[in-house]
Amino acid sequence: MAQKRRVPFFELRKQYGQLSQQIQAKVTQVLESGWYILGKESEKFETEFAGFLDCKHCIGLNSGTDALELALRCLGVGEGDEVILPSHTFIATAMAVTKVGAKPVFVDIDEHYQMDIDQAEKMINKKTKAIIVVHLYGLSGNVKRLKSITKSHKIFLVEDACQAHGASFEGKKLGTFGDFGCFSFYPTKNLGAYGDAGALVTDSPKLAEKARLHRNYGQIVKYKHEFVGSNSRLDEIQAGILSTKLKFLPQWNKKRRMLAREYDLLLSDISQIVLPPIADGLDPVYHQYVIRAQQRDSLQKYLFQAGIDTLIHYPIPIHKQKAYRHYNRQKLPKTESAVKEILSLPIYPEMSPDDVKYVAKTIREFYA
Ligand SMILES: *Cc1c(COP(=O)(O)O)cnc(C)c1O
Repeated sequence: MAQKRRVPFFELRKQYGQLSQQIQAKVTQVLESGWYILGKESEKFETEFAGFLDCKHCIGLNSGTDALELALRCLGVGEGDEVILPSHTFIATAMAVTKVGAKPVFVDIDEHYQMDIDQAEKMINKKTKAIIVVHLYGLSGNVKRLKSITKSHKIFLVEDACQAHGASFEGKKLGTFGDFGCFSFYPTKNLGAYGDAGALVTDSPKLAEKARLHRNYGQIVKYKHEFVGSNSRLDEIQAGILSTKLKFLPQWNKKRRMLAREYDLLLSDISQIVLPPIADGLDPVYHQYVIRAQQRDSLQKYLFQAGIDTLIHYPIPIHKQKAYRHYNRQKLPKTESAVKEILSLPIYPEMSPDDVKYVAKTIREFYA
């Protein structure tokens, strides 16, 4: 099938093209200011992002991975502690737990690809210090219910909201339910920098202060160090870029929802695939549009030959990774069967509805 049409998985240059003047002006302004790490731009972005989420504090960091690790450190999670999390997530969620010296306890997923809350609750014991819930694909489960479970067991709730900028559950933004919300601004995220960046959000002034010290060597005033911290600071260029882009995030998320609706409409009658399931109360942001497909690998190949790029998020669950070989014998049946069938279709704000039509038409052809 020789088609000229190409649908890339994402197209970051298109978005840059639309914003290049504003971005270049901002970058130049920072370069000429002579101040490059933690300054006016970082403070401005932190205030704006906290305002966007409607929470009290935002702490700009180097990455989403650091956000997860610092969240656990600030909550005092470490050696001898257990942290419950899904296995069906990006590896960084688990590595944060391992890096602070705690033990990851992996649980299975529900029908929305999100952590099975009932199973997570059953795993809570005396050693459990925290649960990390991951709002995978820009979707979520019932995070309100999870919050009340962690509260009643007196353990911490950390939200990995690295794929969920702007999504909300029952009107409250994801990332603001837990003791900490963790965000990544990796370039392909719904809000992406032009380099690495991340943030923590919290309503607790004490935790916010601790995180601020932690990202800067535990330094309280110059050369006075309260505890052993790290270097995980947001730089002024990335902060300025993020401020510039944050204004567009609501419309970009709206566009993603529109494209998702288009996919839903065009694919709903194909019996060999399952559309993304959306929990009651959730307003999703479709970081990914993930279908479950029969003959997934052949479908992926067929789409590729038609010029359509797709990805699998994620092909190997964490408990089956070599990095976590001690867990390889654990059985998480729903996770293990999902990873054989899931397929992420292209979705990004700059994608045209015609591209969606072409993808849907090609999927239909494959099953015909
Ligand atoms: C991207 C991502 C991370 C890591 O963020 P980085 O900024 O790349 O370190 C963590 N968890 C999830 C679910 C992610 O998607």
